[in-house]
Amino acid sequence: MSEDGERAPEDGRPLRVAVVGAGPAGIYAAETLTRRAPVPVTVDLIDRLPTPFGLVRHGIAPDHPKMRAIRDTLHRALDDPGVRFVGNVEVGTDITLEDLRSHVDAVVYTYGAALDRPLSIDGEDLTGSLAATDLVAWYCGHPDADRAKVETALTGVRRAVVVGVGNVALDVARVLARAPQELEPTDMPQHVLDVLAATPVEEVTVIGRRGPAHASFTTMELRELDGLDQATVLVDPADLELTPAAEERVAADRNATRNLAVLREWAGHRAEPGRVRLSLRFYRRPMRLLGDDRVTGVEVERTAVDDDGRATGTGEYEVLPADLVVRSVGYRGQGLPGLPVDPSTGTVPHEEGRVLREGARSPGEYVAGWIKRGPTGVVGTNKHDARETVASLLADAEAGVIAPHGERDDLVDTLRARGAEPVLLEDWRAIDAAEVALGATRGRARTTMHEREALLAAVRAASGQSGGR
Ligand code: NAP
Repeated sequence: MSEDGERAPEDGRPLRVAVVGAGPAGIYAAETLTRRAPVPVTVDLIDRLPTPFGLVRHGIAPDHPKMRAIRDTLHRALDDPGVRFVGNVEVGTDITLEDLRSHVDAVVYTYGAALDRPLSIDGEDLTGSLAATDLVAWYCGHPDADRAKVETALTGVRRAVVVGVGNVALDVARVLARAPQELEPTDMPQHVLDVLAATPVEEVTVIGRRGPAHASFTTMELRELDGLDQATVLVDPADLELTPAAEERVAADRNATRNLAVLREWAGHRAEPGRVRLSLRFYRRPMRLLGDDRVTGVEVERTAVDDDGRATGTGEYEVLPADLVVRSVGYRGQGLPGLPVDPSTGTVPHEEGRVLREGARSPGEYVAGWIKRGPTGVVGTNKHDARETVASLLADAEAGVIAPHGERDDLVDTLRARGAEPVLLEDWRAIDAAEVALGATRGRARTTMHEREALLAAVRAASGQSGGR
């Protein structure tokens, strides 16, 4: 310990940490490590994309500019001299986990939960059936989005059904129901605006397998459905009649109380000619998707919800006609080569953020964000989550479980020597500037560049101009 109580690094260099995933969880972890640690720490913040911000860039709906503005706050952590953004590097492909670990004293996994959850019903693979993850990746301009799949599914769509009543389902329904002029000011890629403008949506139906008392969307997001230029939100009053148990649940839960109040306001709405019908329907679970070569409808079973909140089938079926079905029933995480997840939860087993392998703590490995706790909460939830993980990491450093012993090769030098093309902070700034410039060509504040090659071309153009890096 030094006189001021700070523990000096034992061999004169800072503790080196790699954070894998530059979304909010990774950025908060990096920020907490560099700002709060009682010892000097440097962080390599690695992402497989050439761009930072994870779901803030490729998940939060582009028509939510205020929420997306959180990237300005997150950027402060990237600007910290103790943090080095290392984008365009895939752990498991460009570098093995083992190799990465040999470059640093500790690794924090914060790479999220990118996979969709299937419904596991017949017809799910038909053209016109999409996971919300497909659609969200596409409209946010994620480089790995499957454009052909999504654009084929959207062709000629008049009636869409969205399965699930979480906030992602509301995002998807809202984006589908919006008028082109509402999306124009967003940073959506131009081809996304063009395809959505050409999609003749007349009806979007969001279905919940339980009742409104159990919906997981939040009131602010729900309320927004009523403010769209060309859509009328419709609710069946019969869905709002609650059992005593559901009433009790609503009374005990502020979000559910507010949701019910909003839904009751809307129960009097009537469909209006020429406007998109945006319906919320409850007590319906999807049984199969209908259609031969593409989706024509969803067969649903009416449900009843018991006092424990479980939905059971009533044996009463109906068909909701649809040319597009989007399942929005949650995300799930997957392992990295060399890092298994618990298949039942899709998360990495841990104790207060310390990774467990075969039930035992694995020194120097930590986890935060969705891959730690599952796909729940809002962006800010990751702050508390990252703090817990970083506290465990720093306690381990204090206890000598991890320590800045020995020489380590520089990660970026190693990657470059192997032919990888890491994208650093200055490179990201070049991408940022190119997106702003692209937006300006159409009078927009920014247009997201959706092709990895275009993102890298912006980096190369800027590094060429500045004489290389
Ligand atoms: P979610 O909130 O967990 O909602 C998933 C929905 O899918 C639930 O309604 C669930 O119903 C339903 N579901 C699950 N399995 C189903 C099945 N087999 N058949 C029919 N329905 C099924 O997940 P999410 O919407 O993906 O959101 C993930 C997280 O991101 C949440 O924490 C969310 O709040 C957050 N988020 C926030 C915002 C925002 O703040 N604006 C925007 C987007 C996302 P049951 O309850 O019956 O299981």
